[in-house]
Amino acid sequence: MADLEQKGMAQTLAIRLWNSRWLLAAGVVAVLIAFAFAGISAYALLPALLLLLAAAMLPAAGAGQSTDSGAAIEAIGLQRLSGEYLAAAVADPLIIFDRTATIVHANAAAYAAFGGIAPGMSLSLKFRAPEMQALLDGVLSGDVASDVVDYTEKLPVERSYRVSASSVGHATDLYVLVFKDQSETRRIDRMRADFIANASHELRTPLASIAGFIETLRGPARNDPAARDRFLQIMESQTSRMARLIDDLLSLSRLEMKPYLKPGTEVDLRETLDSVIDSLGPLARENSVAIERDYADGPLDVPGDRDELFQVFENLLENACKYGQSGGRVVVSIAHGDAGSEPGIDVTITDFGPGIPEEHIPRITERFYRVDVETSRTQKGTGLGLSIVKHILTRHNARLSIKSEVGKGAAFSVHLPTH
Ligand code: ADP
Repeated sequence: MADLEQKGMAQTLAIRLWNSRWLLAAGVVAVLIAFAFAGISAYALLPALLLLLAAAMLPAAGAGQSTDSGAAIEAIGLQRLSGEYLAAAVADPLIIFDRTATIVHANAAAYAAFGGIAPGMSLSLKFRAPEMQALLDGVLSGDVASDVVDYTEKLPVERSYRVSASSVGHATDLYVLVFKDQSETRRIDRMRADFIANASHELRTPLASIAGFIETLRGPARNDPAARDRFLQIMESQTSRMARLIDDLLSLSRLEMKPYLKPGTEVDLRETLDSVIDSLGPLARENSVAIERDYADGPLDVPGDRDELFQVFENLLENACKYGQSGGRVVVSIAHGDAGSEPGIDVTITDFGPGIPEEHIPRITERFYRVDVETSRTQKGTGLGLSIVKHILTRHNARLSIKSEVGKGAAFSVHLPTH
């Protein structure tokens, strides 16, 4: 270490001398001229020459620091830096290996990601996938200085990495592998692709039906007024289905674009649920469902966005009236819920219909997920209602819990924190 510092100081000294070369040269010339013309003794001028040299040695002050001295500082700093510390500071898994593809060093992230690695172990045995072998062969043969491949680790869980391999420095005979985890990006890409495929399919179905009826109206049904009326009615219901889907899609994308909630607004849950119940009165009557209220006493306010919470309860109550229709009644309750450490208010919407089989419950809030596609279609569902609910509740730091017993009904409970 001391040896390194000495070397570093010598380097800095050399750089300072080089930077001051013109000043020194001018000084020497001045001394020689004085000596030749004025006949002054060279010994008398010696102190002046030494002063000039000392001035040249002094570090350049403040703002005038040159880029050369910056480079010197960098050089000294890097000489002090151990490869091990550098590897540990990298958050991604990193493995240093030699020209026989033997592991020399691995950082903590690499140990955590790939169990069972150790210095001295062969990389080619650890990573047998052909793309990894090709990557190692490429850099070790010296054909390329660095290369990148995509690699998927299957066990214990599937993870996708973008792996880069490169040689380290000049003639160190060391190489480095860095693994960038791409699993989350891949998952989001897949979800997006699935979402677009599902949305297009949902729009395509009513569109195909409308196109079919247009053709029939132009051809065989041209002179059949009764058929024309029936077909136009179907076409109308298909266009409203498309409109509902587009509304829900827009609702989701608007929510995604509003990143956080406006703070400081309070929502009166009693008033909000009363107006949700009023607005769904016609649907409840149509389905012969009686809506009962069971509200706690006192103020029932939570921080949040009124329109968004309205949308949440509207979706839940609408589902209860549609899918739980056979139960004949729905209960809307508001209660103080202090479950755990988080004080809040619980709003629960309970129906007494067929309920939801247990295996569907964890997936029911996914976009386009339905327990029964046909029932959802006949009930004018889009498959997006509960994913909108979940989205809004996440923005409110709220929780949705679903309890159901098949044949007895379902209860959707929303826990809204009061702070
Ligand atoms: P949809 O537009 O189809 O109603 P949702 O996201 O609101 O979409 O609901 C997803 C699915 O969850 C519904 O298709 C239905 O199968 C099921 N579901 C929702 N609420 C209930 C309920 N109260 N009882 C039984 N099933 C329900």
